[in-house]
Amino acid sequence: MKGKKRVFLGILSFSFVFFAVLLIAFVYSLNSGKTEFYRYFMIATAFFLLTVTVLVGIALAVSFYVILSRRSSKSAISFISSFVDLFYPIVLFASRVLRIKEEKIEQSYIAIKDFFFNKDLKRYEPKDILILAPHCIQYSGCKFKVTYDIDNCRKCGKCQINDLVNLKEKYGINVAVATGGTLARKIVKDLRPKVIIAIACERDLTSGMQDVKHIPVYGIINDRPNGPCFNTRVDVSEVENMVKKLLNGG
Ligand code: SF4
Repeated sequence: MKGKKRVFLGILSFSFVFFAVLLIAFVYSLNSGKTEFYRYFMIATAFFLLTVTVLVGIALAVSFYVILSRRSSKSAISFISSFVDLFYPIVLFASRVLRIKEEKIEQSYIAIKDFFFNKDLKRYEPKDILILAPHCIQYSGCKFKVTYDIDNCRKCGKCQINDLVNLKEKYGINVAVATGGTLARKIVKDLRPKVIIAIACERDLTSGMQDVKHIPVYGIINDRPNGPCFNTRVDVSEVENMVKKLLNGG
């Protein structure tokens, strides 16, 4: 987990240095302009670079403060959580320049968001908790339609939908299976949970966590022993541990 967080923060640090160097270069070339228009263009660009550099610097400083301090204020956590979302495209762009696999950035983004989630854990009622699982976790040969209504599962044990239904019955929480982002958004709109445990692949989790801004989301990356989107699996003990934490407030 520590290593995964470092990838994102490392690239953010690289971006900070990159923007700072670019800013210095622009400031030095301010007086070399031949026309007034050129000078104004350079001043505007330098001002833009200064703003981005300062924002990235603040984001880095607050990130390290929240990560290294034992207790951090809620406002610092929510501030930096939004900043991580805001700077995700910059980090993604920098990772392409540095030829780092996108999946690594997504894993790092999820690790950081989960870390901040854990730092600001609250107690929730069972009815306010939603486990959102991907459709590919269902056994491909199963003829029962569990999307949206997981109670259609006959609990034969051929896939982990069985385990998720058990969690639903044991803790009285909401569990739903979605085929994609559209259905996931509809489920969230209908059930109005106050907290979500989302299970999905790196790409879907990253976009889903950025999508749902007003509800805290804890992301769990699924296992794909049979390749992507086919009979996938999840660490059910990790899901259950998080459910217990949310019910107990930490
Ligand atoms: S556990 Fe449920 S969803 Fe999975 S194969 Fe059996 S009936 Fe289908």
